[in-house]
Amino acid sequence: MSVSQEQKISSTSTLKDDQNLQRKQSHLQNFLRRNDLKSIIRILQTDKKSRTNYPKLKYLNQIYHVGQNLCIRGDNRSVYVAKLIKIVKLMDQENNCIPFIKVQWFYRKTELIGLQKDHLDCISENEVFKTNEFDYIEIESIIGLAIILSYEEYDHIEELNDNIFFMRASYINEKLLPPFEQWKKICVCKRPANPDLKYVFCEICKQWIHLKCIGLSQDQAKRLQKYICPECKKN
Ligand SMILES: [Zn+2]
Ligand SMILES: [Zn+2]
Repeated sequence: MSVSQEQKISSTSTLKDDQNLQRKQSHLQNFLRRNDLKSIIRILQTDKKSRTNYPKLKYLNQIYHVGQNLCIRGDNRSVYVAKLIKIVKLMDQENNCIPFIKVQWFYRKTELIGLQKDHLDCISENEVFKTNEFDYIEIESIIGLAIILSYEEYDHIEELNDNIFFMRASYINEKLLPPFEQWKKICVCKRPANPDLKYVFCEICKQWIHLKCIGLSQDQAKRLQKYICPECKKN
């Protein structure tokens, strides 16, 4: 008696599941036809059953693993940076597999909202900030792997590439973490270093000094044999 009841319950629920799946797939079909990415993403976020996780993905002859950092194609030829969190696929009615990736965004200088100009001046074009923002995106937006170094590693790198970035803070709920005031300071101006600017190295205090702060031109700096900054000269 109890067995037959169980079977009954289980067969009913299977039938219901099938109907649900069919309904979802026909929705999905419509969304795909209209290229309605927002609705597809909603399915991915709400319906755990229609997706499967994969540890790696092959796209344009490159294998990407969960946990790697990626360069992502943005609008107007801009490049976004994100960590690959999940690889999933949705199946449509014809059993075609549509892969998607879940990413965690790293913001770049242009995406930081409400930051003082004075602070922005210290931020590099190649600097990224880890956020707590996630999205599902199409795999076609992957450009390639991104390399994210610490500031110290980046400072010592011999050859820079388009896919090399550095990170010294996160950007959580529109706030820098650690706060700007706690970033390591350099130069006589005592401000955080922006590697995009021009510097000269002080042989005594072993610090980078902004050319601008000591009124030196690039040519003058190149001709210098040895540089000692104003503060070290005083001592
Ligand atoms: Zn300075
Ligand atoms: Zn010095």
